[in-house]
Amino acid sequence: MGTLLEIESLTKTYRVKKGFFSRKEVRALRDVSLKIYEGEILCLVGESGSGKSTLGKIILRLEKPTEGKVLFRGKDIFQMGKEYTRKVSVVFQDPRTSLNPRMKVKEIIEEPLIVHREKERKRKVLEALKSVSLTEEVLEKRPLQLSGGQAQRVAIARAIVLNPELIVADEPTASLDLSVQEEVLKLFKELNEKGISFLFITHDIRVVEKIADRVAVLYGGVLMELGRKEEVLKNPLNPYTRFLLDSVPARHPKERKEDMRVSEEEYTIPEEGCPFYPRCPEALEECRKTLRRSEIDGRVVACNLY
Ligand code: ADP
Ligand code: MG
Repeated sequence: MGTLLEIESLTKTYRVKKGFFSRKEVRALRDVSLKIYEGEILCLVGESGSGKSTLGKIILRLEKPTEGKVLFRGKDIFQMGKEYTRKVSVVFQDPRTSLNPRMKVKEIIEEPLIVHREKERKRKVLEALKSVSLTEEVLEKRPLQLSGGQAQRVAIARAIVLNPELIVADEPTASLDLSVQEEVLKLFKELNEKGISFLFITHDIRVVEKIADRVAVLYGGVLMELGRKEEVLKNPLNPYTRFLLDSVPARHPKERKEDMRVSEEEYTIPEEGCPFYPRCPEALEECRKTLRRSEIDGRVVACNLY
């Protein structure tokens, strides 16, 4: 499989106001490198605040990297014109906020076609609608007249109407009821089978299990582990990946591990070394200062144990 998108040493620093006069820097991404291959679903997983949306936004050119590059089929995306937005589209978490409430469904789906001066717009809108299993009745409605699942299908129809090669989906099922989540995940899988690649962002490891080909684990802006889903989930190498797998909520509250509570606390992420060392049960002295990145059997692991 060829490389579709390549991220090279991406760092993103946000400057935020701390007090009246002072500013502080938040490093949302630290030297992240990864590739998205043609035809795959790469899941990006991590707790809230780990930098997932920042990475998605940079790929969508909604944020600029502080350092590093993003290449689409070898070309720097920030040097590309409008043709890039034809190839790469987005589905956000909540259709109630991402879709314009004043527009009719048919206008929402048609808009990208107008922007790109496409012909045969009506046919293409109907085709996209069919691909997401919606009927023509929804075309005259507005987003707030739809159920959450229907509205997200409209957002997906809009995302596929230009036949993109890559979709960045940022927690696209997090706002939906569980039963609807399953259906929408199935829809993403179908679109993937038709050839669209995905960067699928989620904080939910169970979603990863259902949908991913490969998984990238992010914590404190650092790519902690990256590899094939089966390998990473069955035999996680990074203690942080193990921690994430252990903190999957059990069906019954009594079965939940102590760790769940730990993950709900606010942790300060150290500036230097491994971002996870204050919480890591296997931390070494050197983890305060450095973080080694290795490749083990084709898997990327950032951890001083290896
Ligand atoms: P995630 O999607 O994994 O929850 P984000 O990428 O949204 O993580 O955020 C990563 C870090 O960057 C967080 O500490 C967040 O507070 C910070 N951050 C995100 N966006 C901004 C912004 N526009 N300005 C300042 N800080 C931001
Ligand atoms: Mg996010």
